Amino acid sequence: MSRNILKDWAGRFRSETPGVSAKTEWADQLTRSRHAGPRMSVQTAMDPATHGTGTLSVHAGTYNDPVTGAVGTPVFNATTFLFQKESYKAFDQGMIRDYPIYTRYGNPTQWAVQDKIAALEHAESAIVFSSGMAAISTTLLALTTRGGHIVTARDLYGGSFNLLRDDMHQFGREVSFVDPTDADAIEAAIRDNTQLLYFETLTNPLLKCAPVARLGELARQRDLFLALDNTFLTPVCMTPIDLGAHVVLHSGTKYLNGHSDLVAGSAAGSRKYLDMIWSQMLKLGGSLNPQDCAVLERGLKTLDLRMRAHVAGARQIATYLDGHPGVARVYHPDLPDYPYDWAAGLLPRGAGGMVSFEVKGGDEAGLKLMSELRIIQAATSLGGVESLISMPFNTSHSSMVERQRREVGINPGLMRLSVGIEDLADLRRDLSDALAAATGERA
Ligand SMILES: *Cc1c(COP(=O)(O)O)cnc(C)c1O
Repeated sequence: MSRNILKDWAGRFRSETPGVSAKTEWADQLTRSRHAGPRMSVQTAMDPATHGTGTLSVHAGTYNDPVTGAVGTPVFNATTFLFQKESYKAFDQGMIRDYPIYTRYGNPTQWAVQDKIAALEHAESAIVFSSGMAAISTTLLALTTRGGHIVTARDLYGGSFNLLRDDMHQFGREVSFVDPTDADAIEAAIRDNTQLLYFETLTNPLLKCAPVARLGELARQRDLFLALDNTFLTPVCMTPIDLGAHVVLHSGTKYLNGHSDLVAGSAAGSRKYLDMIWSQMLKLGGSLNPQDCAVLERGLKTLDLRMRAHVAGARQIATYLDGHPGVARVYHPDLPDYPYDWAAGLLPRGAGGMVSFEVKGGDEAGLKLMSELRIIQAATSLGGVESLISMPFNTSHSSMVERQRREVGINPGLMRLSVGIEDLADLRRDLSDALAAATGERA
């Protein structure tokens, strides 16, 4: 079985749509009339090839209201839109993704933020979801079929791992878990029925960098889908589509929105594949409501600016912790002992804003450290303007037994720090005081 399930998918569409003959296969129509978007004529179309990420963050996709001249996208709270001649034509031609008909299918406020994400990810098309998990579950189901096989890793966000381990086989998909940094092991895990490679570009919590360019090459050679969760890096630090990925996923809850006040997700890629994911999204129902789209769009306007601060902050904090006698080990791609040497070539714009480290004294010292911090807050999640710290052993990876944690490299005392945009001198002092209290050591 090959990745090319478009024919299968056309079959599914046909069976749900009596009267569509084999000659007018949906897949063929997709090929014939594929274009970027959905995008309305009043939206700001901006070519990512000729604009920087700062400009794209602010302007790409904005809905420019021709009646009022409002600066910024209006919030269309409507659930439904008046039928027009074009909408009937859209139904007839299977093009309803491009017309405002019903908000779960699409809404101009969704299209504005989707187009911004697409521009930032160098993709033709994007879909926003009600959470990162909605984006991931919908995409995994859309890009695979019953009897298919997925190659992925144990180094995944907990929710993604649980879905792949507990549920995908119930839908008739087989799953293999391999080391996400070992391209040879990934290749060796490919079978005749493999359809999808699914990994995180920079893993949670140990910041292992996937060999994305090699994975892109592998997907091309073996005719497989490559879908990557780019949450930790954002398109400011990596655009996986340029490296051969077919679909890029995000928990928009994290850096894309950036203010810890919204749960959202996104998928981006070519129009052809995003149409498949869109059709799955209609059935699973995880669309993002218009008010939340407006919040996400506002957050994204400062994405480039925020990421520059996160990247610089994480780099400095990683170096500071690396030289601290109370810290046993620091995980960050910019440090000289980082083991995955392809990362430097893949991350010319930096490695995001996360730093993981092992505090001396194990989990007990880690808990003490968190209780002593005054500016850095102990909470799960990441990617917001405020610095957050958590320990994987009793949060994101608590569903693993100790042996499994050791296998993926989560040692006692491991802390996951999301470096915010506060003043670095304040963050360093906060860490210095708390480390002194927790370990008795001062840098
Ligand atoms: C948080 C997270 C998710 C899940 O996103 P939600 O918005 O919480 O559903 C998926 N992948 C990664 C890497 C994450 O950090």
